[in-house]
Amino acid sequence: MPSDHVDVLIIGAGLSGIGAACHLRRDCPDKTYAVLEARDAVGGTWDLFRYPGIRSDSDMFTLGYSFKPWTDPKAIADGAAIREYVRETAREYDVQRHIRFQHRALRAEWDSATARWTVHAQRTDTAETAVLTCSFLFACAGYYRYDEGYTPPLPGVEAYAGRLVDPQHWPDDLDHSGKRVVVIGSGATAVTLVPAMAERAAHVTMLQRSPTYVIAMPSRDVLADALRRWLPAKAAYPVVRWKNVLLSTANFQLSRRAPGLVKRLLRRAAKGRLPVGYDVDRHFAPRYDPWDQRLCVVPDGDLFTVLQQGRASVVTDTIDTFTTHGVRLASGDELPADIVVTATGLNVLALGGLTLSVDGTEVDLASTVAYKGMMLSGVPNFALTIGYTNASWTLKADLVAGYVCRLLRHLDRTGQQVVTPLPPPDDERVPLIDLRSGYVLRSVDALPKQGATAPWRLYQNYARDVLLMRHGRLTDEGVQFSHARPVAEPAEPVRPRAG
Ligand SMILES: Cc1cc2nc3c(=O)[nH]c(=O)nc-3n(C[C@H](O)[C@H](O)[C@H](O)COP(=O)(O)OP(=O)(O)OC[C@H]3O[C@@H](n4cnc5c(N)ncnc54)[C@H](O)[C@@H]3O)c2cc1C
Repeated sequence: MPSDHVDVLIIGAGLSGIGAACHLRRDCPDKTYAVLEARDAVGGTWDLFRYPGIRSDSDMFTLGYSFKPWTDPKAIADGAAIREYVRETAREYDVQRHIRFQHRALRAEWDSATARWTVHAQRTDTAETAVLTCSFLFACAGYYRYDEGYTPPLPGVEAYAGRLVDPQHWPDDLDHSGKRVVVIGSGATAVTLVPAMAERAAHVTMLQRSPTYVIAMPSRDVLADALRRWLPAKAAYPVVRWKNVLLSTANFQLSRRAPGLVKRLLRRAAKGRLPVGYDVDRHFAPRYDPWDQRLCVVPDGDLFTVLQQGRASVVTDTIDTFTTHGVRLASGDELPADIVVTATGLNVLALGGLTLSVDGTEVDLASTVAYKGMMLSGVPNFALTIGYTNASWTLKADLVAGYVCRLLRHLDRTGQQVVTPLPPPDDERVPLIDLRSGYVLRSVDALPKQGATAPWRLYQNYARDVLLMRHGRLTDEGVQFSHARPVAEPAEPVRPRAG
């Protein structure tokens, strides 16, 4: 069994893992590192999802890395462009040769005596096992299961003779031209699929149990287009990035402080783009407040356009049963369908299924508390990336990777080897992910928690986190720096007493 040692072992070669490797290269060039990636490609989410229209729903000036300008004219970019951006970044920073593809990390064991993690991985092609050791373990494994999306019970689905498709595993051979399509769901995937499939389908119906807030956004950024004419990309990028950060923060804060006002604004904006007489309250006015769940962005209002044109429709109802040729609804209506797409969400999976133990004791993730949203109480030399829920993922991923580099340099400077977050002094706990979306609520009990106050509390505020993570102190009451614990002296053998 091969055994290797690196200073930092990154799990996952998606946006976060590649970003983490680049940060190491930039800020800690003397550290050795490797990336374990379960799949055979770079890109994570942006390589896995291949459904028609797959795109970001946040702007690429904030979903892009702080250190690599997004130069494509489209601010809301399609999946292939994002995948290529991640790959290009990996090539630029020479990350590729550090990645061990088709290696799924299964188990990581911390040993205080050596101040090392031993990580057990399994090859996804040959099922062979591999063992690596590292001084710092950095989980960038995303937040959901790759093998299957979430599908709620679909009554009578066995009777259905058409094609049932999971957007997470889009079939290469699926031709929806001229077909009647039903997309079940109302989240980001559904609102992306509907206009994209409506281009060629006979008709697309979005079947939702309840509505989501949908907001139109220009697919190009006017300021970025203007600045690009005058400034080099490196100068224009941070300006547009900060403009978008401030706008999205203001939008979030306003939604939290005046939800009624934001509800009315969103309703009015949707109404203005829908056909006259459209039942906007039934189909586009959720019962929850804006940002209790993520808002769905539609570039240039493409969803509203296909509804206007009659190429797609929205039905708000529940499924009574599947029939041979479609879906019968609780209202008694029937939706004929040649293809049904289950855009019903993700299955959350923390740390990509990796289990942790510290000195032989299994870590129960649910009872850990996140320190600065990125380390876990009682787990030494470990960080994980969880992006923002109210802003682009990468804003946070960049901060976390930068912070890990600061920690590593601090350890070297002070001649110490171990950094361990401590739990908060009180028992107050709040969920780590502050959303009421189905996928979050289904998993909240199994995930780490947050404390009531900083540094155990995340405020979902990038500007505040920049101060905390880029410029804030590394030492505080929530973390302990120490030397590796010397191996305990062997105990004196017990001698049988004479006589
Ligand atoms: C369809 C879709 C659209 C999205 N759009 C947006 C958006 O517009 N804006 C936004 O901010 N966020 C969006 N998100 C969230 C999105 O996941 C993040 O933006 C970002 O791509 C996450 O990057 P990541 O590298 O952290 O995780 P991932 O992209 O999930 O990559 C994780 C990588 O880790 C690997 N891995 C996992 N477990 C293991 C293991 N045990 N061993 C080895 N390797 C492992 C996986 O194979 C994968 O390559 C979207 C998510 C989805 C599903």
